[in-house]
Amino acid sequence: MNNATIDIAKTVNWNKIRSDFPILSRTSNNKKLVYLDNGASSQMPKIVSDRIHDYHLNEHANIHRGVHTLSQNATDAYEATRDKVKAFINAESLEEVIFTTGTTDSINLVAQSYGRTNFKKGDEILVSEMEHHANIVPWQMVAEQTGAVIKVIPISDSGELVMDAFYEQLTVKTKMVAVSHVSNALGTVNPIKEIIDAAHAKSIPVLVDGAQSIPHMVVDVQALDADFYVFSAHKMCGPTGFGILYGKKELLDAMPPYRGGGDMIDRVTFEKTTYNVLPFKFEAGTPPISAGIGFAASIDYLNSIGMANIAAREHELLEYATNKLSAIKGLKIYGTATHKASVISFLLDGIHPSDVGTILDQEGIAVRTGHHCAQPIMDHYNIPGTVRASLSFYNNENDIDALANGIELVKEFFG
Ligand code: PMP
Repeated sequence: MNNATIDIAKTVNWNKIRSDFPILSRTSNNKKLVYLDNGASSQMPKIVSDRIHDYHLNEHANIHRGVHTLSQNATDAYEATRDKVKAFINAESLEEVIFTTGTTDSINLVAQSYGRTNFKKGDEILVSEMEHHANIVPWQMVAEQTGAVIKVIPISDSGELVMDAFYEQLTVKTKMVAVSHVSNALGTVNPIKEIIDAAHAKSIPVLVDGAQSIPHMVVDVQALDADFYVFSAHKMCGPTGFGILYGKKELLDAMPPYRGGGDMIDRVTFEKTTYNVLPFKFEAGTPPISAGIGFAASIDYLNSIGMANIAAREHELLEYATNKLSAIKGLKIYGTATHKASVISFLLDGIHPSDVGTILDQEGIAVRTGHHCAQPIMDHYNIPGTVRASLSFYNNENDIDALANGIELVKEFFG
């Protein structure tokens, strides 16, 4: 983060931005809500919710199939999202932007369509020890189907990938590298460009799980040279049930469809069916139209603040929170990588994380407790889970102070 970016972040009116989110002024358990579970799902600004509401009240029709005006307008609005996503991630063409129901769906699509076609017995799929279950289980399923095997890049105690082990395991047998850009449980920002370049030097494709990176930083899929980049709208101030698979055109073109049905076909006969062109080949059936249209409003909203500003503000909040929490006796932070997104996972000496979460909840503070769908990380540290505070640009220093005070209350309760 350079100083210029940090200075720009200071010119943004973050209080005003906070007021864009009605939910942040409600109470929870009769206390002011302090929402620190943005890693699970971010909140929605009114402007996005209004867009979805308006679509339902005034514009709804099924898309891609009607000659009537309502259907054509809905199609245009839905397809406009593809243009926004293309620009947001700097994809080369619209055909490379596939609409899915989220990160999990996108990874399953690649595992089943690309993996089932290209993997064979003895091939290796390289994932990391810090992956979300969504970037482990689909690969295990296709490994079982094809005879491929899973290899794992270990992490260090600071929660960083052991890159020497990565290079050792990247061999002629490797047929896919699937790693997260940012860890949801530890906040580590992985050296994704280095990983992609090393894999490409051996002609190995890379899928990047961008669920936790894209809400917090500028992502340019062409600069990264990612083969597949996947993410979910609901972590980007958008609706649930909608997500993206970015894939390079030549890879997607060669992949068979994943789901069959309406919209993804060119011509259907009982003898032979031919498929639609990209991106529609992978989009069977009626999609979540309002979610797609709402997502365009989320992208507009994020762009109006600027992703570089968001990254700078969250960096500021992370530093504040790290200093504040590190000063608490008996608190240990898990995930101390040099490059981190705004996630703090921690444990309090001798207190179970779910007890911490329950008491904080009584104080109106929403954090996530447990294994965060990343059980191998918990096994690495030999812990049952952590308490995770994940910050967004609309959080502020008062939220972090409230968390620190809440933690002191938990300590008193168990003291
Ligand atoms: N990968 C990572 C790193 C995540 O944090 C998440 C969501 N917690 C997922 C994948 C799965 O995302 P979704 O549930 O939206 O499909």
